[in-house]
Amino acid sequence: AKEGGRGGYRFFSPEMNQKLRERRALEADLRVALAQGGFRLAYQPQVNLDTGAVIGAEALLRWERPGIGNMPPDRFISVAEETGLIGPIGTWALQEACREACTWPGQLTIAVNVSPVQFRQSGLYEAVVAALESSGLPPERLELEITEGVLLNDTEETLATLHRLRELGVKIAMDDFGTGYSSLGYLQKFPFDKVKIDRSFVRHLGGDRSAEAIVRAVVGMSHALGVHTIAEGVETLLQADMLRQKGCEEVQGFMFGKPMNASDFVALLGSEEVP
Ligand code: C2E
Ligand code: CA
Ligand code: CA
Ligand code: CA
Repeated sequence: AKEGGRGGYRFFSPEMNQKLRERRALEADLRVALAQGGFRLAYQPQVNLDTGAVIGAEALLRWERPGIGNMPPDRFISVAEETGLIGPIGTWALQEACREACTWPGQLTIAVNVSPVQFRQSGLYEAVVAALESSGLPPERLELEITEGVLLNDTEETLATLHRLRELGVKIAMDDFGTGYSSLGYLQKFPFDKVKIDRSFVRHLGGDRSAEAIVRAVVGMSHALGVHTIAEGVETLLQADMLRQKGCEEVQGFMFGKPMNASDFVALLGSEEVP
């Protein structure tokens, strides 16, 4: 092979060589997808537990990789992060999600995931402003989902960016809450509008007393700090009932709708009575 001409490659075992080749191919395919419009977004409904009304959706990246098929984000986000491609991919997702949400009625919100790497790259604030301006979406209808990874980089700059985004009117949700190390302290220190209870706790509701205790504690603590909660990965009526009983306000999960394309989401809105 041509690449064999480079020195150094011999130091890798054949398996490592194979992994590197796959990674490089993935990176190349990601670049093509970015340049040629190969990504799309799926929208998963978020529902008010009291009224049953759809209050918005989370935008989730989808990629049909040529010659391979559907690639779940878990399988390419890390490479996108390592190569810096997550920046432009995330900007595309912001633009696309805001443009789409603009066509939805009323006060429906759109939640967009922001990777810690994307957050740290300069220009996130500017990308958000640009997406809002070019779409005309009111800032209040955009929510950014950030994980603890963003806050691990516990700098003045992180805090300042979060404050600037909130001053715009954009909402901030703490994603995958409870899976990290020091989530509790972060809740107090950083400005959030919403806490997203991770699926790993929701999944064990009904079977595992400690999952129940954790959910009750997270909801209670969030309320004490003036923040409301949404649970992700809700699959059963039992889970939904237990969440409601513990004071969780909103839910998202297969029970209420799988991630779907934009037109199916709009059709779903049309089929329900919005109070
Ligand atoms: P996440 O932010 O925790 O998103 C929720 C994931 O759970 C989604 O997987 C969703 O399809 C899945 N899910 C939703 N409801 C249920 C349920 O009831 N049961 C089960 N078993 N799963 C459910 P998906 O779409 O494969 O995304 C995986 C992860 O990839 C996301 O986890 C998020 O961390 C990341 N991701 C997705 N889109 C983006 C994006 O635009 N930007 C960034 N930075 N990350 C993204
Ligand atoms: Ca999320
Ligand atoms: Ca999540
Ligand atoms: Ca999660």
